[in-house]
Formats: sequence, structure tokens, C-alpha cells
Amino acid sequence: MDTGLKGRVAIVAASSRGIGRATARALAAEGCRLALCARNGEALKATAAAIQAESAVEVFTEVVDVTEARAVAEFVATVVESFGRIDICVTNAGGPPAKGFLATTHEDWNRGFEANFLSVVYFAQAVIPHMQKRRWGRFITLTSITTKQPIVDLVLSNAIRNSVVGLVKSLANEFGKDGILVNNVAPGYTRTERLKELASIRAAQQGKGEAEVFAAWASDSALKRVAEPSEVADAIVWLASERASYITGQTVLVDGGSYQGL
Ligand code: NAD
Repeated sequence: MDTGLKGRVAIVAASSRGIGRATARALAAEGCRLALCARNGEALKATAAAIQAESAVEVFTEVVDVTEARAVAEFVATVVESFGRIDICVTNAGGPPAKGFLATTHEDWNRGFEANFLSVVYFAQAVIPHMQKRRWGRFITLTSITTKQPIVDLVLSNAIRNSVVGLVKSLANEFGKDGILVNNVAPGYTRTERLKELASIRAAQQGKGEAEVFAAWASDSALKRVAEPSEVADAIVWLASERASYITGQTVLVDGGSYQGL
């Protein structure tokens, strides 16, 4: 399948590890030139070096906290200066802490809103004008299965992620005329550092082993296993590609059949 991605310039936010890193690798394998950002400069450089060793594509990196509007705008401006364009933008940030409602603080809500909603707004504001100029763009948000099915003790994610879905649909409607497609990818349980951290918290809370926690997550899905980060990344690559040219405003679940609805 020719994805048509060779030479495209792609931003992948929060890509030093996890699904962000897998997405960067997968886009590089299709020949995209990459602009990566995350907060941890060392981890980001290691990711960039590993990708360059594998795919020999240009990789630009910058330490950016995606909750800072100015830092995001400056990063995007530097990417445009270096590469001359932006074709693809994948937004991402760490997930909010696992808590029940009464355990959440106002600070948790503010932080969750900044990381998981406002960061998407900041990237959209910065990249869309550049995509409009070239009349081609793919803006892809990374959220969670919680956009379809709330998860116990993830009330911050359950509530905040759906504002991204509303934004995605609005941007898709407003900028489709400019050749910009806007979609959301919603993973289920995926074997990343974050999931391992979550497993150790759940295991301690429930007096179980981490393996047992993973087994329970796996049994929630029709496929009876959690996802690998590359499986989520492949869905993002497809949405970014020419092969998904009539798909916009959608949430694509990559959850192995965990969502129970029709
Ligand atoms: P992860 O914690 O392994 O990686 C998160 C990345 O985000 C890291 O590179 C980290 O440095 C970066 N980051 C965090 N906050 C940042 C900030 N403010 N500015 C810049 N970079 C920042 O997470 P993951 O498992 O790869 O998950 C990615 C997204 O997918 C998260 O929003 C997560 O909630 C969501 N998700 C994950 C799963 C799963 O099972 N792993 C399931 C559903 C949804």
C-alpha cells in the first residue's frame, strides 16, 4: 500500500516514549521528516537517535511542555523555519492521574484540562494556518477509549477527553474546505510505560500482582490481550496517509474490541 507519506513533515507531540514514540517511528518508516517534542530532553534525543538509525530521515527535536501555549507556538514556528511546511500534526500528552471523583482536586482538573484539552487547542491554532496555505493537512489527536466508554477511577480522562472529540468534529467541519482532515485516535489498554505505572498503582490498591492486573485488562478486550504501541501508531499512520483521504471528524478506536457498544 502506497501511503503517500514520503517527504511529508510531521509533528509528533509528547513523543519521547510510549505511543508518541511508536507513532514517530512508524511515520519515519514511511519516509516522513519528523519534528518531535517532549519535556525530557535526554529521552527525546535517545528516541530521535534510534529513529534516525532505523529510518535515516531528518528528525528535529525540542524540549517543549505542551501545556505552555507560547512554547507550542514557538516550537511550531521553528519547525516551519527548518522544514518550510507542516503536513501532519499528532497531538499527545501524558494522561491524567487515576482517581475517583472525590479524590480529585481543583488542581487535578486544571492540569488535566491543560494537558489533555488546551494542548490540542494550542497545536491546532499554531499549525492550521500553515496547512491552509498548502491546502493539505492531517491533524490527529490521541485520546483514549474513555471518549466512548468511561473507565472506573479515570474520571478526569472520562470527562476531559470528550471535549477533544467536540473540538475534532468542529475543526473537521471548519477546515475540510481547506483540505485539512481532522481525526481522533482512541486507544484501549496499550503496553507502555504509563500502563506499567498504572498497573503498579492498581496492584498496590487491590493487593494483587501486576501480572494479574494486566490479565484483567486483557480479558476486557475481544482479542484477550492489551495493544502494543505500534498497533496504535499504525492507525495514526493510516489516518495521516493518502489512503484515508475521505475520512474526517471521526474517532477511531484501537481497543481490540474492548468497547461494548455497537
Ligand atoms: P506515556 O506516559 O508512556 O508517554 C507520555 C509521553 O508524554 C511521554 O513522552 C512524556 O514525556 C510526554 N509528556 C507528558 N506530559 C507532557 C507535557 N506536558 N508536555 C510534553 N510532553 C509531555 O503515555 P502513553 O501510554 O504513550 O499514552 C499516550 C496518551 O494515550 C496519553 O494521553 C494516555 O492517557 C493515552 N492512553 C494511553 C493508554 C495506555 O494504555 N497506554 C490507553 C488509553 C489512552
